[in-house]
Amino acid sequence: MTTAVAHTPRVLRPTTIKEATGALAVHPGARVVGGGTLVVAERSRGIDGPASYLLLSGIVDLSGVSRDGGGVRIGAQTTLRDLLDAEVSPLLDVALRSLATPQIRNRATVGGNIADRRPAHTLSPCFLALDAAVESAGAGGTRRRSMREFVSEGLAGGEIVVSVILPERSGFQRYTRVAPRNGPGYAIASVAVSIDPTARSVRTGLGGVGDSALAAPAADDFLTAAIDWDAQTTTDAAAAEYGRLLAEASNPVTDDRSTATYRRHAVTVMGRRLVEAWTEEQHHG
Ligand SMILES: Cc1cc2nc3c(=O)[nH]c(=O)nc-3n(C[C@H](O)[C@H](O)[C@H](O)COP(=O)(O)OP(=O)(O)OC[C@H]3O[C@@H](n4cnc5c(N)ncnc54)[C@H](O)[C@@H]3O)c2cc1C
Repeated sequence: MTTAVAHTPRVLRPTTIKEATGALAVHPGARVVGGGTLVVAERSRGIDGPASYLLLSGIVDLSGVSRDGGGVRIGAQTTLRDLLDAEVSPLLDVALRSLATPQIRNRATVGGNIADRRPAHTLSPCFLALDAAVESAGAGGTRRRSMREFVSEGLAGGEIVVSVILPERSGFQRYTRVAPRNGPGYAIASVAVSIDPTARSVRTGLGGVGDSALAAPAADDFLTAAIDWDAQTTTDAAAAEYGRLLAEASNPVTDDRSTATYRRHAVTVMGRRLVEAWTEEQHHG
């Protein structure tokens, strides 16, 4: 590892995952930098001034999208542009196109999007809906957790995100959101869902309605039981109840962008409409 000691701050440039976690053990206050679109913006606003930065950009093992059997492995340093180009899921396609601008997507990384578990960030609800797992590495080695665990626990000190692993899922996959405007930018609230007829399972992710992205296991279990999987249909009442259960799973705040009441209402309506869209797609293509 070459460590370029400038005046301040110090910049650490590991070339392997082991070097990165070793450097974080020695420099626990170092700020990890993926694509830098948030870290650099914060620095230029004077918010963040750590003694050192640790750049992940030199670690080739962290980049790229690979397919293994039916599953997909997405390295933490994969840019959002490369993830979009990889055409991994229709749900990710819509979500990524709504995320910031092409210029930001060219630099921003998957790891940087999920690492801090910021509730307004776009990808975590999507990865919840796709039943993803997250691989992270620290001084003690590498571990793999479900996305559900990751959004509630986060990273331990000195850990980095290594990859996101998507299992094979078929069927309906959608992302929808409400935002202050109909262009790229942060959502006020978002819902991602996949309804897999092979696994006969429903997975949902919610954004903008909690401290982090949220899973909605009670709503998933309800809809899984309410779907007639052979006929590929469900009732209007079940669609409405699924929306209500999404609101129940939410824990939104009122802030300068929206009210908690509106956010709850938004996930209720988005949830119901997603199930209606699924029903429509099964019967009218
Ligand atoms: C104009 C603008 C619009 C934006 N719109 C959106 C939007 O709509 N939706 C959205 O989700 N985001 C948005 N963002 C935020 C940001 O660009 C993205 O979230 C981006 O994916 C962050 O990735 P990055 O690689 O640039 O992160 P960085 O800035 O490098 O890092 C972000 C955080 O993650 C940590 N980190 C980075 N990589 C790792 C890793 N592998 N392991 C551990 N920690 C890590 C850093 O220490 C830092 O705390 C926007 C930003 C801007 C400037």
